[in-house]
Amino acid sequence: MDKPTPKDKPPKKAAPRKAPAKRTPRIPYTRAEIEEIFRRFSIQRPEPKGELAHVNPFTLVVAVALSAQATDAGVNKATKDLFRVADTPQKMLALGEERVREYIRTIGLYRNKAKNVIALSRKLVEDFGGEVPRSLEELVTLPGVGRKTANVVMSMAFGIPTLAVDTHIFRIGNRLRIAPGKTPDEVEAAFMRIIPDHWLYHAHHWLILHGRYCCKARKPECERCVIADLCKSKEKTTDIPAPLVELPAQVIG
Ligand code: SF4
Repeated sequence: MDKPTPKDKPPKKAAPRKAPAKRTPRIPYTRAEIEEIFRRFSIQRPEPKGELAHVNPFTLVVAVALSAQATDAGVNKATKDLFRVADTPQKMLALGEERVREYIRTIGLYRNKAKNVIALSRKLVEDFGGEVPRSLEELVTLPGVGRKTANVVMSMAFGIPTLAVDTHIFRIGNRLRIAPGKTPDEVEAAFMRIIPDHWLYHAHHWLILHGRYCCKARKPECERCVIADLCKSKEKTTDIPAPLVELPAQVIG
C-alpha cells in the first residue's frame, strides 16, 4: 500500500490562537556585564544623595513637585526660607497661596506650582491625617505629583527601591541600549527587569549622576567614563574605561 501523501492526511486542527505576547526587547548585555556596570558605579559614588534639600517627607514632596522644569539648585535657593516657616502641610496651608508664591517666585511656573503646593497640603491634611502616604497609588492622587515625583519620594523619603525615570535615565536606557523604551514607563520597566536587587536602592541616583556629569545629552564624555569598555552605545568614542576611583564630593550627588 502506498504511503499516505501529505494530501491524504486529515487536516490538522488549527491550534487555538494565543494572545500575542508582549515582547521584551533583547539587550546586548549579559547579566555579568550589568552587575559589573553597577559595581563600578558603586565605587565611584558609594553614598549618592539627592540634590534637593528637604527636612522631612513633606518638604521632599514639595521640593520634587517644584523641581519640574527647574534646576535643583534653583529649587533649593527658594525652599530654604519657605521650609523654615512651613515644614508641615498644616503650616503651608496657614501660610496661604499668595505667600507661597512670593517664596518661590524665582522658580519657573511658580504661580501654578504655588497653587499645587497648597492643594497638595490640603489633600494631605484632609485625606491622609497630615502624613505623606507611602504608596505610589496614594502619592499620585496628590495635586502636582505624577509618577516620577511619587517614585522619587518613595525612594528618598521611605527607602523603597524604585526608579524614577527622568531625562538622564531615559537617555541612558536608550543610548546604551541597556533599557530601551519609547516612553519613561517603558524605560522604567526595562531597568526594573535588569537591575540586580542589591543595586536597586542607589541605581536611580547613579544613573542620574552618570547622565548629568559624564554621559551628557549633547556629547557623552566617554574618555571620563568608567564603563566605556562595557558600554554598547553606538555613540561612544572610546573602549578604554577611565580609572575606577571614588569621585570628589561635588559629583557624588
Ligand atoms: S562610554 Fe560614552 S556613551 Fe557609553 S556610557 Fe560612557 S559616556 Fe555614555
